[in-house]
Parts: sequence; C-alpha cells; structure tokens
Amino acid sequence: MKPPVFRYVAARSLEEAATALAAAGEDAKILAGGQSLGPMLNLRLAHPSALIDINHVPGLNDIRVEAGCVRIGAMVRHRGLETSALISAQLPIMSAAAKHVAHVTIRNRGTFGGSLSHADPAAEWPLLACLLNAEMSLHSTTGSRQLTADKFFVTTLTTALRADEILTDIRIPELAVGTGWGFEEMSRRLGDFALAAAAALVTVSAGKCKEARIALAGVGTTPLRAVGAEALLTGQVLTADALRAAGAKAATECAPPSDIHATAEFRRHLISVLTTRALTAAVERAT
Ligand code: FAD
Repeated sequence: MKPPVFRYVAARSLEEAATALAAAGEDAKILAGGQSLGPMLNLRLAHPSALIDINHVPGLNDIRVEAGCVRIGAMVRHRGLETSALISAQLPIMSAAAKHVAHVTIRNRGTFGGSLSHADPAAEWPLLACLLNAEMSLHSTTGSRQLTADKFFVTTLTTALRADEILTDIRIPELAVGTGWGFEEMSRRLGDFALAAAAALVTVSAGKCKEARIALAGVGTTPLRAVGAEALLTGQVLTADALRAAGAKAATECAPPSDIHATAEFRRHLISVLTTRALTAAVERAT
C-alpha cells in the first residue's frame, strides 16, 4: 500500500515545527517514530495535507530528574525507556512495561510522545501515564500549557491536543518511599496489543495501605483508574482477600469492548485476575 500525497517539513527547532504546524492548518500531522502514523497512511486511514517531522528537533530526547519528577522528552524511543538506567532506578514499572510494547524493531523507532498522542486505549504508555499521574507539556505558536493524564486522554485515538499543538515532554512525579509496583498484561502473542492490562502502585506505611493506585487498559475508550478498587484498599491491611476483592471491584469499573479477539466478559474476567496479580506484586515489592 502507498500513502496519499502529503507535504513534508523536516523541522530543525521546536519553533520551526510549531510554526509549520500552525501554517499547515487543521489536517497537518506531527511525524514522530511513524510506527502508527506510517501504517495509517499506507492503509489510507489518514490523509494529512502535511507531515511535520520532529525527529531532528533538539531537546526532545532527554530523560532527567528535575524538581521532584522524572522528565521524559516526547521523542524518547520505547527502547530508550526500556534500557535507561535512570528509568530502571526511578520508575522500574516503566522498564517492565516497555518489554510489552510491540517488538524491538518497532521499539527502536516508536516514541513515548507518539504513543501518548496516538492514544490507543490498549497501549502501555497511556496506561502508565494514568497510573503515574503524568503531566504533559503541550507547545504551540501561541504558548505552552500543561495537562494531567486524566484530562489528556479524551476517547479512542483522541487526546486534548489541539491541531496546532506539539507534545514536548512528560513529567512524572517521584514515587513515595515504600511504594511497590505491579504490571500485568494479557495478549495473544508477545508484542501484540493487550487484550487487557492492569498496573498498580501500593504505598505501605505501618503495615497498612497508605495509597493504592490501579490503572486499566484495553477495557474502555481510554486508559482508566479503578478509583473504587483504590478506595477499598486505602487504610486497610493488605491481605490476599483484600487484594482479591479489589481485583473483583476493578472488573466492575470498566466497560470492555467485545471484538474478534475477546468478548467483553472475558476481558472483564482478565481485569479481575490481572489486577489482583498486579496488586500482589506491588505489595510484595513495597514490603
Ligand atoms: P507516530 O506514528 O509518528 O505518530 C502517531 C500519532 O501521534 C500521529 O497522529 C502523530 O501526528 C501524533 N504525534 C506523534 N508525536 C507527537 C507529538 N510529540 N506531539 C503531537 N502529536 C504527535 N504500541 C503499544 O503501545 N503496544 C503495542 O503492543 C504495540 N504493538 C504494535 C505492533 C505493531 C506491528 C505496530 C506497527 C505498532 C505497535 N504499537 C504498539 C504502536 C507503537 O508503539 C507506536 O510507536 C506508537 O503508537 C506511536 O508512536 P510513534 O512515535 O511511532 O508515533
């Protein structure tokens, strides 16, 4: 398959990219790793008038610790997150999740910002952005603004990014001392998108749960937080029964689709099991 005709701009600075994007109008697109946009062009599912390539824009590739958070540039590749010593030390759940993003060849090109902007509800990075309370920085010719993950993801393949905005970096607040993590995903083959996935953070203090966070993917139009299940655990002693009850509660808080890959009922069952497993791993790591 061949893509439709489009104009191509290789931007050399953020300002050049923002200016080109604004000038090109509503149906222009940013080109990051091209691992979702490329197939969409070739299948003629996208017909952008122009592609603004940000692969050569400096300043979008760093991972660094900054004022109580980890700042990740939008153009950091999936593989960069998978192999980063800083991510492994500060946010090991991201190192673990990266191995589930497609295959190594795709991870070499696909970017963190591209995955968040593409907003597939079964993708790993949007799920973790919700879990980790990530804050996205968006830039345009008219200025910059910040949006938290709960406001960024709108519906399937749709974010709050305006047509003239570029996602430049993502800030993830540092985790509290005593926080453990768990990440569980079920897909038909390694590298496929998840049928369902669950990620959990548990902070334990004096033998009780100080904070629980649970995020789910593949079971709604966006990644979502299982706030009812989180509330069940907060302040409680984290017994195996309590974790199972939270898993069962999480399964009632999602709206899974039925498709050729799995029924809604099967996905809901997966969420109960995967959430319980993710919580169990998180409690073990926290204690
Ligand atoms: P692109 O394809 O370049 O762009 C995607 C969209 O985001 C476009 O609309 C583009 O305009 C927009 N965009 C990109 N960057 C920005 C930005 N900085 N600011 C504003 N808009 C922007 N992903 C998973 O999460 N899990 C999987 O298991 C998985 N499996 C895959 C299997 C295959 C065979 C393939 C081809 C892809 C798979 N993917 C999977 C998708 C992959 O992770 C992509 O890399 C990712 O979704 C998009 O990132 P990208 O950098 O390639 O973005």
